[in-house]
Amino acid sequence: MLVAQNIAEIEERIQNACSRAGRKRSELILMGVTKFVTADKIKEAYNAGVRYFGESRVKEAAQKFETCRDDFPEARLHLIGSLQRNKAKQAVNFFDCIQSADRDELVTELAKHSLERSEPLEVLLELHTGEESKSGYSGLDALFKAAELVLSCGKLKPAGLMTMAPFTKDSKLIRSSFRQLLNAQKELKKRFPPENWACLSMGMSNDFEIAIEEGSTLLRIGSAVFKD
Ligand SMILES: *Cc1c(COP(=O)(O)O)cnc(C)c1O
Repeated sequence: MLVAQNIAEIEERIQNACSRAGRKRSELILMGVTKFVTADKIKEAYNAGVRYFGESRVKEAAQKFETCRDDFPEARLHLIGSLQRNKAKQAVNFFDCIQSADRDELVTELAKHSLERSEPLEVLLELHTGEESKSGYSGLDALFKAAELVLSCGKLKPAGLMTMAPFTKDSKLIRSSFRQLLNAQKELKKRFPPENWACLSMGMSNDFEIAIEEGSTLLRIGSAVFKD
């Protein structure tokens, strides 16, 4: 029951951060990040009410979730790790959302394969806001171009934006990273159909309270949920 206990503690911290920020808990999704996590633990999280799951690799996700997806009928599965072009087809067929759309050639590939889907594929554009690996789009111009690519494909659903803050204890740096994402969302909403781009995927185990204060709508939490 460790996972359920971890989640209860996280829920309390989410509630407190929401109160501080004058936000409602219902505005936020808690995603369990299940890379390196076994199916048993995923089941514990599901039973404790988690419905969104994030995986960083296509192959690992397929191996784990293909066999147990029937056990998790309401689970929504997102890819959150960087995606190679040659795995795009498999990813498009397997995930409900690709959060790590980080370059035009990948978006083009996702668009191509998404035509075979019955439901549109949700896509989040990843913005680079200071994290070390440098994955993600840099700057608004690149983001706008990518948004046009997404909107030009009927089978891609422009669901929002994603970022990773730098891994640091300096909360100012983290906050500034999240503010960049919120600002980018405002600009996108001004420029493109505003019903889109609603999701702001930001906040991990070490920084989710700051993310809530800065407007996150989806927290990607791994170690805090699944720690022993
Ligand atoms: C691993 C990972 C997370 C979760 O990180 P924790 O620190 O374990 O909460 C969130 N987002 C991405 C993109 C990740 O790769």
